[in-house]
Amino acid sequence: MNRRLTMALPSKGRLREPSWLLLEASGVAPQEPGERVLQAHCRNADIDLLFVRADDVPEYVQDGVVDCGITGLDLVSERDSDVEVLLRLGYGTCSLQAAVSIEDSATAIDDLQGRRIATAHPRTVAQLLANRGIEAEIVEVTGSVEISPRLGLADAIIDLVSTGSTLRTNGLRSIGVLFESEAVLIGRKGSTDHVARRTLTTLLGSVINARANRYLLCNVAKDRLGEVTALLPTKGSPTVMDLATPGVVAVHALVPAADIWSLLPKLEACGATSILTLPIERMVP
Ligand code: AMP
Repeated sequence: MNRRLTMALPSKGRLREPSWLLLEASGVAPQEPGERVLQAHCRNADIDLLFVRADDVPEYVQDGVVDCGITGLDLVSERDSDVEVLLRLGYGTCSLQAAVSIEDSATAIDDLQGRRIATAHPRTVAQLLANRGIEAEIVEVTGSVEISPRLGLADAIIDLVSTGSTLRTNGLRSIGVLFESEAVLIGRKGSTDHVARRTLTTLLGSVINARANRYLLCNVAKDRLGEVTALLPTKGSPTVMDLATPGVVAVHALVPAADIWSLLPKLEACGATSILTLPIERMVP
């Protein structure tokens, strides 16, 4: 099938900005970027965008209102949506954590047995606790979950946490992680024959991969090449090229961005010089 693809994007909240930036970096940004726009066409692709609340995206995709969409994995779980996760997007990362007041004796999630837990994610929490064989009373709240223990509404909370500072500010202490979430591209189940959907997944995936890696270049004496290549945390084979100066080679390799800080001093210690790291725009492994 080769028709226009429809895609739902978060219209506000935490996932809006990074989702727009991802489309921009992928070269398929909307034509009319504005706060109030509800629908837009993509500049370079046959994609029609619909801007809706991140909470509504799973249902829109499941019901076929759109072909695919970007939302949080936690929302897919909470809505119990029958959709396919096409791609993990690497932003909007957070975890569903259980927390108690700092004075509470609980130290682990299993200590929640028989207690009252406030949460804005009742369906996911019920499922996760049941999987662990924990019976607890779930108190559904929609906002300010963190003050529930202080108000006497609950003994503990289970809420989304990214830095943990909100927990600390409210005198709470995490006793464990139940679920890890991030932004995801989701698609309608069974719609595998859509060419544009496959193209979009490859395109967004190439940017996500690229963000996580750097292109590393350095020069090294030929007799120390083995030491340098042994250090590289690279999956594929590095490129090695002779330089005009005899006995010296240039090494080019793809390196996970997170490893760069620990790698550079080690390369220097092996005599590598002219070390450069460059950002990558796209990467299709
Ligand atoms: P919004 O409520 O529209 O700002 O977005 C909420 C979504 O952002 C959640 O469903 C999560 O997928 C994601 N998120 C990332 N970090 C956090 C956080 N610390 N608290 C709540 N949601 C978060």
